[in-house]
Amino acid sequence: MNWDVIVVGGGLAGLTSAAYLGRAGKRVLLLERAENLGGRGTSRNHEGFDFSSGLHALYGGGAAAEVLGDLGVEISAAPAPIAGALISLEGSTHAMPVGFVTLMASDLLGFAEKVEAAKVLYEIDRAPIDSVPELPLSVYLAAIAPTRRVREVVAAILRTVTYSRSARLVSARVAVRQMRRASRDGVRYLHGGWAGLTAGLARAALHAGVDVRVAQNVERVVHDGRVRGVVVSGQRVACDKVVLAVGPRAAESLTGEDLGADSLVPMRASCLDVALTSLPVPRHRFVVGVDEPFFFNVQSEVARLAPEGAALASVVEYLEPAEHGDRGRLEAVFDRLQPGWRQTAVRAQFLRSITVMGAHPTPGTGRGVTTHVPGLFVCGDWITSGVGEILSDAALGSGREAAHHAVEDSGHEREPARARVA
Ligand SMILES: Cc1cc2nc3c(=O)[nH]c(=O)nc-3n(C[C@H](O)[C@H](O)[C@H](O)COP(=O)(O)OP(=O)(O)OC[C@H]3O[C@@H](n4cnc5c(N)ncnc54)[C@H](O)[C@@H]3O)c2cc1C
Repeated sequence: MNWDVIVVGGGLAGLTSAAYLGRAGKRVLLLERAENLGGRGTSRNHEGFDFSSGLHALYGGGAAAEVLGDLGVEISAAPAPIAGALISLEGSTHAMPVGFVTLMASDLLGFAEKVEAAKVLYEIDRAPIDSVPELPLSVYLAAIAPTRRVREVVAAILRTVTYSRSARLVSARVAVRQMRRASRDGVRYLHGGWAGLTAGLARAALHAGVDVRVAQNVERVVHDGRVRGVVVSGQRVACDKVVLAVGPRAAESLTGEDLGADSLVPMRASCLDVALTSLPVPRHRFVVGVDEPFFFNVQSEVARLAPEGAALASVVEYLEPAEHGDRGRLEAVFDRLQPGWRQTAVRAQFLRSITVMGAHPTPGTGRGVTTHVPGLFVCGDWITSGVGEILSDAALGSGREAAHHAVEDSGHEREPARARVA
């Protein structure tokens, strides 16, 4: 059989792309090399605790919400509670200044710093988004928050919503937009973890007639000026078009093409998720580090992720590009915020250094879904150009966009959307 489109990779991007292609009437084969679908967007249940691949939250107001609505995927989730959120600085915790009242009540800043912080938070919340410069977040923060303490507190909050340690690698506009989505459109924690998102997208793909196969490692994309097929376990499978929904390095090695991977800087983190029979300090369930780049969160307080009375607590450390995680540092955060946790811990998952997003949304860089090989498209959370999204919004948004391009593609040569550096 000659497939219209083969989608390589069954993560969130690949499933999205396949579902749209199937709905457009294409004969679609999706090949995933792992035994299960979902890639980084999944979760596994161990003795009643749902572990995702580290701490995950679904933001409203972006491409993911649009795609889920389009495809009729319903997500079972609870809103993230912001009341009681804390900031950790120099070993002690303080109320997080999320609004005027919490800012004025906080003992974190002096009066003049509070006035400055109020202006900065107002600017981030209210300035027309087009007036926020397409500059690195570090440059923008230095301009709007001259006082170091204020800047550090605001940077820590923005780090939590963008997942990036490196403010110099993140677009200020992207960070501000993500912050607004958190405050206006809401953030949700999924009941049962991120497997629910994968399952919903997989159902949409199957419903659209996509042939979904797991444990299929694609070895190569065959192309000679246009796509001819893929090679799986030494066998060639013919198709007219390919959507590669794998990471940038994998996409380059499957095609032998330069897809700009060298110019992309992945966003990485280290995560420790711990299943606890009880939470030693219930007050400490949402804590953002200012002088240490961590975020501690107990999502099971609102989402169904743990048996009754038990808790699933997580800490994530945002990493610099060349840095590696360290379990001891994450355990030290638990020791400080949840003393006695070791006595109630029944299982732990440590991810030393996981790619959160395939590329930083750095101003002047980015890659789109088309390539210079006719019939070959790419998608995934490393596609930041054109789609203009981050994290799972980039995965679902680029999956949709790659599908649209593949449907429209006439097979003629076109200018590729290449990675570029300012
Ligand atoms: C710790 C952590 C926290 C996160 N938090 C959030 C959050 O709070 N909010 C949010 O929106 N996003 C979050 N994300 C990001 C989100 O999980 C990802 O953006 C999304 O899952 C990426 O999906 P993807 O399809 O692009 O890539 P992947 O999930 O990496 O999927 C790629 C798939 O391709 C398959 N594959 C690779 N090579 C081949 C081959 N040769 N043949 C066949 N298959 C192949 C892989 O097995 C994999 O299944 C987080 C990620 C992490 C790791």
